Amino acid sequence: MKQNIQKVIDKAVRKHELTREEIIVLLSCEFFHKNSLFVAANRVREKYLGDAVHLRGLIEFSNYCRRNCSYCGLQCANKKLKRYRMSMKEIYQAALGAYALGYRTIVLQSGEDFYYDADKIADLVRRIKKLGLAVTLSCGVRSFEEYRLWREAGADRYLLKHETADPALYQTLHPDSSFSERLEALIHLRRLGYQVGSGCIVGLPGQTLESLADDLLFLKALDVEMAGIGPFIPHPDTPLMSFPQGSAEMVLKMVAVLRLLLPLAHLPATTALATVGNDFRAQALRCGANVIMPNVTPRKYRQLYAIYPHKAGVKDTPVKSRQQIVEMITALGRKIATDQGHSPKEKFCQAVS
Ligand code: SAH
Repeated sequence: MKQNIQKVIDKAVRKHELTREEIIVLLSCEFFHKNSLFVAANRVREKYLGDAVHLRGLIEFSNYCRRNCSYCGLQCANKKLKRYRMSMKEIYQAALGAYALGYRTIVLQSGEDFYYDADKIADLVRRIKKLGLAVTLSCGVRSFEEYRLWREAGADRYLLKHETADPALYQTLHPDSSFSERLEALIHLRRLGYQVGSGCIVGLPGQTLESLADDLLFLKALDVEMAGIGPFIPHPDTPLMSFPQGSAEMVLKMVAVLRLLLPLAHLPATTALATVGNDFRAQALRCGANVIMPNVTPRKYRQLYAIYPHKAGVKDTPVKSRQQIVEMITALGRKIATDQGHSPKEKFCQAVS
C-alpha cells in the first residue's frame, strides 16, 4: 500500500491525471504520505507558477441574497442579519483604495442581489477597469446576457463555486436551485471567455470521500483557471448550525491533489481555512496554493458579510490585512506578484491585454 501511494503521487506529478480511486487513496493517506503529497504539490506549484503569490482585493458589496443555501449565513431566511448594500460610489472608492494599496485585481462579491442590475454592474466594471485593475466578479448565477454584458464591459474573471459535485447533496443544501443550473452558468462563463473560477466546500453534512474526489474531477474536467477550496464552517443562524466543522487537513489534501491535477490553476489559500486556524493559510501556500484574497471591504460593512461566523481578519483595516499577509508570504520565502495575475494559460495571455 505504502509503495502504491508513492506510485500514485509520481503518476500525478508526471501526467497530471488521476482516477477517482487514486484520488481517494491520496485523500485518505496518513502522516508520512501526506508529507510526500504536500512536497510534490509544492514542487509542481514552483515549477509551473514560480514563487509569486497573487493578492486579490476582495470587496463584499452586498449581503442581500435571494437564495437559501442551507450552510450560508446570508441566506434570505436569516432574519437576524442586518443587511447592507454599498453604493456605486462606495464600491468605486473601495476599489481606488485597493489600487493605492498595491492590488492589481479586485474581486466584487455579493449575495445574489438583483438590486444591482446588469447595467449597474457593467458601469462599475468599466470604471474600475480604467484604473488599471483586473476585475473578478462573484455575484452568483445570472443570465447569459448579463454575463455577456459584463464581459464586454471588461470583466476578466468570474468566480462561481460549484460547492459540491454531488447532485443529490447539492439539492438537499440548495432548496431553490440545482446543480444543473450552476453547471449551466459555469458553461456560459466559459463560452464568454472569462477566466473561470469554481470550487467546493469540504466537510458538508453527508459528503463522502467519493464525492470529494468527484469535486476534484469536476474542476479538472472544467479545466478551471481558479479554484477555491475551504472547510464548511457552521453558522449559528442556519439549519446546519449543529453540524461539525470541516477538516482543515482534508482541505489541505484537496488543495495538494488539485495542484497535481491542474498545475496552472490559481488556487487561493482561502479565508475559510484561515478562520479555522491561523496557520492553515501558510500551510496551504506550502502545498499548492498561490493566491490570497485579503478583504478590502469598508470596515463598517465587513462584519455583516457573515457567510460563516468569526471570519478571519474581519476587524482588521485593509492596510493591516495586507501587511500581515505580506509578512507571512515573505516569511515563507515567497514574493508578492506585482502584475494583474491573469491565468498563465496561453489563451488568456493573448486575449486579455
Ligand atoms: N453569491 C455568490 C457568493 C457566495 S458567498 C455565489 O453564489 O457565488 C461565497 C462562498 O462562500 C460560497 O461560494 C461558499 O462556498 C462559501 N460559504 C458560504 N457559507 C459557508 C459556510 N458556512 N462555510 C464555508 N463556506 C461557506
